[in-house]
Amino acid sequence: MTNHEYRVAFAAAGIGDAEIEAGDLAVTTPVDGTVIAHVATCGSSDLKDMIERAHRAFEAWRMVPAPRRGEWVRLLGETLREEKETLARIVTLDCGKVLQEARGEVQEMIDICDFAVGLSRQLYGRTIASERPGHRMLEAWHPLGPVAVISAFNFPVAVWSWNAALAVACGNPVIWKPSERTPLTAMAVQKICDQVSSAFGDDAPPGLCQIAVGGPDLGEELARNQRIPLVSATGSTRMGRQVAGTVAARFGRSILELGGNNAMIVTPAADLDLAVRAIVFSAVGTAGQRCTSLRRLIVHEDIYDALVPRVREAYRKVPIGSPFEEGTLLGPLYDRDARDAMRSALETAHREGGIVSGGEPALLDRYPDAAYVTPAIVEMPAQSTLVATETFAPILYVLKYREFDEAIALQNGVPQGLSSAIMSTDLRETERFLAAAGSDCGIANVNIGPSGAEIGGAFGGEKETGGGRESGSDAWKSYMRRQTTTINYSTDLPLAQGVTFKP
Ligand code: NAD
Repeated sequence: MTNHEYRVAFAAAGIGDAEIEAGDLAVTTPVDGTVIAHVATCGSSDLKDMIERAHRAFEAWRMVPAPRRGEWVRLLGETLREEKETLARIVTLDCGKVLQEARGEVQEMIDICDFAVGLSRQLYGRTIASERPGHRMLEAWHPLGPVAVISAFNFPVAVWSWNAALAVACGNPVIWKPSERTPLTAMAVQKICDQVSSAFGDDAPPGLCQIAVGGPDLGEELARNQRIPLVSATGSTRMGRQVAGTVAARFGRSILELGGNNAMIVTPAADLDLAVRAIVFSAVGTAGQRCTSLRRLIVHEDIYDALVPRVREAYRKVPIGSPFEEGTLLGPLYDRDARDAMRSALETAHREGGIVSGGEPALLDRYPDAAYVTPAIVEMPAQSTLVATETFAPILYVLKYREFDEAIALQNGVPQGLSSAIMSTDLRETERFLAAAGSDCGIANVNIGPSGAEIGGAFGGEKETGGGRESGSDAWKSYMRRQTTTINYSTDLPLAQGVTFKP
């Protein structure tokens, strides 16, 4: 894309020249490594105003009936359908993922909107049997208050939508601090939200959805602020550790979606054709920059020599190129720091006795300022500290196992616990993998790779991944407060637990 084409893309998303020319934050596109915009960041006092606006919005929005709140989300989904291609192109420009995946990311936004519309009529509480005669117990779910969403660069819009669609349907305004690397997508989404609010009518309060562009300092301010009852933070474990401590110290609630180090076990009973396809998509897709990217391949020794050369061969054929070109499967890393981190991990692996193939810089002639690479496979003698560390790049460490328990121990033997997979047609193996003593991850897949979750299930992971759950299933409960009620419709006042107390 040329400079002119960038501007056309911004204009299509409603982002005017003034918004990308005057600011203090330089935005670089990973596509060719050039600076494409300068956007304004949000200062401390702007943030305080935003929080005040969000509180005023909350007072009004919590009283709007939930199905009507769902209508706002329905309009958001409809508008996203109309703007899908425009937004996808900005996603590609901002974070460098290939256009096919960027379209998938916007589709995920649409899907979660559909889910949240249905949810807006299903914010069910229970009725509970009371031990006291003439009494009834029930629980109700009420809106919680302004929700802060801190998001990572690699899913610049989907993460916001998993949170925002539920939060808004549940009666909460949202303040979004996008990654400072990908503010353009957030600006485009904010335009869409403004459009949705004006189409919705007067009962959509100003300040229902706001963005605060800035870096970690701004994120820390949100985490510290007593007036934000829930902080949903997606990013590195390092960031999550800080946010978790800050929010917990003020008794706030956090949803943490942090780093992953996802494995796939391939057993002798695997369909190897399926396995090769699943491995390449999960390990190479989004240039290995998904939290759910496949990073560790744990292969039974009897099929090792049948599988690993096939994966290597498939890797050689992966088309590398501009993420805008149809047919490209591997786009750039976010920047040259990411490429340096990849190189350094591969050098360490080599020193540790790993056999490295791939991992070379690519397309240097065409994009000297960007960070394209060939995907790397590293056959490792053991699961070292390096292998147990998330390097955000397309590096696949391959390990051998003999006994099934050994494979499970390797799979679970890392600090992260996001996603996992087994490739096997043996029911006993797959069920052991899914049982209580099997995978310790939040996501455990059978005969598909660890990446590419659907929105219907709760998404998140254990251990250093942070324990949060977003998106489907009952993840909505995190965005509400639960109230338990006991109603006495008798003329007596019996006490619980048979206590008698008669003055
Ligand atoms: P990052 O931690 O550098 O930044 C993420 C966000 O946190 C940014 O908005 C950043 O400004 C903010 N931030 C950083 N330090 C902060 C602090 N101390 N207080 C408050 N906010 C702070 O992560 P990144 O490089 O943008 O993203 C890659 C990481 O995100 C990987 O580790 C990846 O696995 C993880 N990730 C996890 C999920 C998930 O759902 N589990 C999804 C996407 C990405």
